[in-house]
Amino acid sequence: MIPRDQCVEGPIRVFRDAELVLPDRLLVADLLVQGTQIRSLAPRGEGRGDEIYDLAGHRVAPGFIDLHTHGGWGVDFYTDGEEEYRRAAEMYGRAGVTRLLATLVPGPWEEMIARIDETARFLESIPAFLGIHLEGPFLSHERRGALPEIGFQEYSDAKMQAILEAARGTLRVMTFAPEVVPPSKIATIQSRGVVMSIGHTVATKEETDAAVRGGARRATHLCNAMPQLHHRTPGPLLTLLSTDHIRCEVIADGEHLDEDMLRFILRVKPPESVVAVSDSMPLTGMGAATANFAGAEVHSDGCRATQADGTLAGSVTSLPAALWRLEREQGLTPSRICQLGASNPASDLRLPRIGRIGQGCRADLIVLDSRGDLIATLRGGSRVGAGPEGPLLPATLRVD
Ligand SMILES: [Zn+2]
Repeated sequence: MIPRDQCVEGPIRVFRDAELVLPDRLLVADLLVQGTQIRSLAPRGEGRGDEIYDLAGHRVAPGFIDLHTHGGWGVDFYTDGEEEYRRAAEMYGRAGVTRLLATLVPGPWEEMIARIDETARFLESIPAFLGIHLEGPFLSHERRGALPEIGFQEYSDAKMQAILEAARGTLRVMTFAPEVVPPSKIATIQSRGVVMSIGHTVATKEETDAAVRGGARRATHLCNAMPQLHHRTPGPLLTLLSTDHIRCEVIADGEHLDEDMLRFILRVKPPESVVAVSDSMPLTGMGAATANFAGAEVHSDGCRATQADGTLAGSVTSLPAALWRLEREQGLTPSRICQLGASNPASDLRLPRIGRIGQGCRADLIVLDSRGDLIATLRGGSRVGAGPEGPLLPATLRVD
């Protein structure tokens, strides 16, 4: 699914003198936006257009793309309705996330199929959502994490077909355990536009290798919900770490992975093969609170969300907050942060025109002031949170 808000008509807006976060460097230049797209880049002061915004001292980066998020700001993608999805699209946007996958936990079979069908309908009219990430249902009972086991299924072609039919082309990522889904099925499923992502598994190295030979090219929250690396029985981790083309999710909230483990992953994987995700749950952005999530009571202290037995139940850190944290803790450049949070996720879904600043790309942009605070988000050229008639950027920035 390609974002459906395409339009290249209307006034040309010039973002003058902005520090642009490009894939390989920072560049102070003029950025020209028309309709939903980036029209071009021009040397500073030379951009010509209909509306000029003085962005001297400001940074403009691609909006972030979260491929694994169960909700936030009180919205639960598994249980809530279309209006809540719309509110979520705005809240994610205000935080700096311009596109996302609604990530669904597994549930009782009939309920889950109905939920996928319903979600597919919501997504048709809300372009912030690129589709669904279904975290299951073909997973290992031994590594359920915080997911409800009642939804776990043995694999069958009929069940897979029912999921694909309910999703009507919106299923973009499916987390699966290689010991549950036969490797011979992976390429067929992926031919329907689904990226098969290894996770919630106790697969042996051999089973993991077979899944990779079968076409799997992604891993869900690397290290979490899978066995530790052992020198005689390496399990899935050795293959996922050492196979360059396997793109691995990392939850960079500072709770799910030790900081040095994260540093190690970023060092051994090729730069294009790591995707930062939030794995955020509905209490994200709500401070200390308690809620029912994925069939269990979850308490958040504002930093960690856990079930009663202490199991981590996703994160309560939005993707931008995790990325800013990563920038500070690991000393990463702005370009690297945007690679992990925007261009790699876009590549994961094979969407070359989002997730980066370049001519002809979607105008999904975030604007940061000189203190690094986010002051505006543009999704497809429109300011998020401003309403249809609202200003594109704060009026104080406009100079024409
Ligand atoms: Zn998850």
